[in-house]
Amino acid sequence: MSINTDAKSQLTPEANLLAAYPAATGILTIDLDAIIANWRKLEKTAVPAECAAVVKANAYGCGAEQVSRALANAGCKTFFVANVEEAAAVRAAAPQATVYSLGGFFQQTGDAYARIDCKPVIGDLNELAEWDVFCRRSGWSGGAAIHIDTGMNRLGLTVSEAQGIIPRINAGDHGITLVMSHLASAELPNNPANAKQLSAFREIASLFTGVPASLANSSGCFLGAQFQFDMVRPGAALYGVNPTPEADNPMQQVVDLKARIVQIRNIDRGETVGYGGTWTARRSTRLAIVAAGYADGYFRAASANDGTRGAEVMVAGKRCPIAGRVSMDLIAVDVTDLDKSAVRRGHMVTLIGEGITVDEVAHHFGTIGYEVLTSLGRRFVRIYKGGEALAAQEEPAKPEPVAAPAASPALPEAPAIPAAPRPLPSSAAS
Ligand SMILES: *Cc1c(COP(=O)(O)O)cnc(C)c1O
Repeated sequence: MSINTDAKSQLTPEANLLAAYPAATGILTIDLDAIIANWRKLEKTAVPAECAAVVKANAYGCGAEQVSRALANAGCKTFFVANVEEAAAVRAAAPQATVYSLGGFFQQTGDAYARIDCKPVIGDLNELAEWDVFCRRSGWSGGAAIHIDTGMNRLGLTVSEAQGIIPRINAGDHGITLVMSHLASAELPNNPANAKQLSAFREIASLFTGVPASLANSSGCFLGAQFQFDMVRPGAALYGVNPTPEADNPMQQVVDLKARIVQIRNIDRGETVGYGGTWTARRSTRLAIVAAGYADGYFRAASANDGTRGAEVMVAGKRCPIAGRVSMDLIAVDVTDLDKSAVRRGHMVTLIGEGITVDEVAHHFGTIGYEVLTSLGRRFVRIYKGGEALAAQEEPAKPEPVAAPAASPALPEAPAIPAAPRPLPSSAAS
């Protein structure tokens, strides 16, 4: 359903929102136009490199289908997800796109990869061998990326393992469509690890003749053209997280989070608020009790205690501090300084938005914007703005089963499964 923002309406946008969702305790609005604008900005920064979009973890909590559809319509051609299930959601929304799964390949998932036409990002020689077996058996030739570890020590072949693949690249018909690595400290432009990873990657990637190369995440896009290679892979910056934490945020805010005031109460000086009574009123205090808590992804770390300030929220256009501990479903906000008539039970306050950024909230939560976005809970009504008219806003339709691409012949019946060329080392068990 869409909200009535009809110009003829006498209601403010906020009142319209409340009228449209009378039972909502919280409303999470995701601005698809802002995501598109952020992607365009990154694309411009990266030209002539291609700008892909990382939409793992349900597009950082913003909705993989809605985001992928909007970005595909805006011209984004390549998407990265974490696993095959996520790839299916992107494929449903972006039928023409190239979709890579960063989590790599497991033997049992070959059919799913082929059915969805998703390419695994392979970071282990055993995985590569298993993928080759699958491709041989099934005739699938959808391609895969090779991930090379240049210092993060998470996923990826070692540089010397990657060198072992060069003869295969030189022999042609290798099925490798991308060679990539991942930066560990890109948000710290002066960290010497960046230059080290860059030179290690440049050297090995140059040996993958004719294979497009990719290194930069969001922050990496801002480290200079030499980091951009043939493709950049921003995630967080698309969703408004500052990719340059040491400077102003070049990205637009994407998320707005409002929650409803469920009660207003007055307490005397000396009374305490919330679990543990950790916050004491230093004056007669008026509290707005708001329906959002840590179960919604509003972290308990944002609590205010005697002696430590917590997060702030916007109430009737003014910043107001949280009082006491954030509990599972509720927070208390000190609205003593506001005009009495400005704060009403049933009104919404703004937890993120109106100048309160995801990064600011993350600071109070003791974490990063990535974790804030991916934590925002399911109890909020979700509304999408922009990105052209999108159907089924509240309950995204289940991804339609995608027909197997014509290039994918059915698996032969019960073939003998050839053994993987190499035994699995014990480290592969993790
Ligand atoms: C998550 C991820 C990205 C995107 O990172 P951001 O910091 O969100 O831009 C890029 N590449 C890989 C391999 C990732 O895992």
